[in-house]
Amino acid sequence: MNAPFITQSIPRYASAEDLIAREQPAEPTYILWPEKFRVAARRFLDAFPGDTLYAIKSNPHPYILELVWSAGIRHFDTASLAEIELVRGRFPEAHCHFMAPVRQVGTAKTAFEKFGITDYVVDCDFELDKLISETGGGKKLRIFVRIATPLGGALLELSSKFGTTQEDAARLLKRVAEAGAVPGLTFHVGSQCLSPFSYAQAVEMARRTAQMAGVEITALDIGGGFPAAYSNNDVPPYHWYFDTIRESVNTLPNPKKVKLMCEPGRALIAEGVSLVTQIILRKGDKLYMNDGVYGSFDELTLPGWNADYPVRVFGVNAKGEAVSKAGGPRPFHVYGPTCDSLDMLPRPLMLPENIGPGDFLLFENIGAYSIALRTNFNGFLPDRWAIAGN
Ligand SMILES: *Cc1c(COP(=O)(O)O)cnc(C)c1O
Repeated sequence: MNAPFITQSIPRYASAEDLIAREQPAEPTYILWPEKFRVAARRFLDAFPGDTLYAIKSNPHPYILELVWSAGIRHFDTASLAEIELVRGRFPEAHCHFMAPVRQVGTAKTAFEKFGITDYVVDCDFELDKLISETGGGKKLRIFVRIATPLGGALLELSSKFGTTQEDAARLLKRVAEAGAVPGLTFHVGSQCLSPFSYAQAVEMARRTAQMAGVEITALDIGGGFPAAYSNNDVPPYHWYFDTIRESVNTLPNPKKVKLMCEPGRALIAEGVSLVTQIILRKGDKLYMNDGVYGSFDELTLPGWNADYPVRVFGVNAKGEAVSKAGGPRPFHVYGPTCDSLDMLPRPLMLPENIGPGDFLLFENIGAYSIALRTNFNGFLPDRWAIAGN
């Protein structure tokens, strides 16, 4: 029998306004939107021509895992034993894939023997040797060699730490095939990738790599990187991504024989979570909020990041209703609640000029990384949850 779904015990509201009016929360509160999780998952399950793995590092919270699972996702990109245990502990029939190219000593052995994980990634001889020796020869494995891709349309690059050149990947791919494992290729075009063409370019690099190796690949994992809708970021229509990927995969020698996989993190969960914060103090154009960069807003501070979460402001009127404040926007510096001067949003926010203490900010599309990266620095850990809509 399945355990009751833990999200059923979270307080439920008709809307964000309903929550703000009834609770006037003094602590930051995450709002989960199950319907938005379903829409995000359907985008992939209906249109991506392969398996969709949820990259759980983007938000491993048990509520999020449950909503992703309920939305129909059954495959998980896990990068540690702890992530595997988390997924399997909750969903014993989940398919886990170990898609990190570096592993602690002994991790692959446990993942293989205890959890039956057969998908792994490598980008160098050392990790390939270790993987083969820890899993008793590698014959039962599918091993993906990761290639580095140029920074095309992504905000955050993911190819300087991991991934190797096409020449080196070709050599490793040959070694994988010689070891008797199923040979695959993988890449990550970078996170919040605004250009579908980046995927086509990377698939072409994979095609050349396999050709150079003289190995026919039967698995291609195109990684994550699919974007979420933020302010200052124009997200192309999703079908452009899937059309581009399908077209480029068709240039492989035997496309029908290639098992395709993708590993979206952000795109499956960003839009399903909003955050309500409260202004606790205003000094001129400085606003002090009850959440900051040590809480939910860390990702905004990453080098190269220029997106912001869409935000709306609400006050509560004399009748106890949440009303939108929209007057004369002007830029405000927004500080978090800790004693650290660095606890400040990196870009000013355009907010109504009559904003003040007691007002609520509703940040949208905040589900990715934010929650995974929060700390309890200075005793402030945002951890109140609500659910809204269907
Ligand atoms: C972080 C990561 C992902 C998820 O990336 P998103 O940009 O959130 O989609 C997928 N695969 C790997 C290997 C990753 O490191």
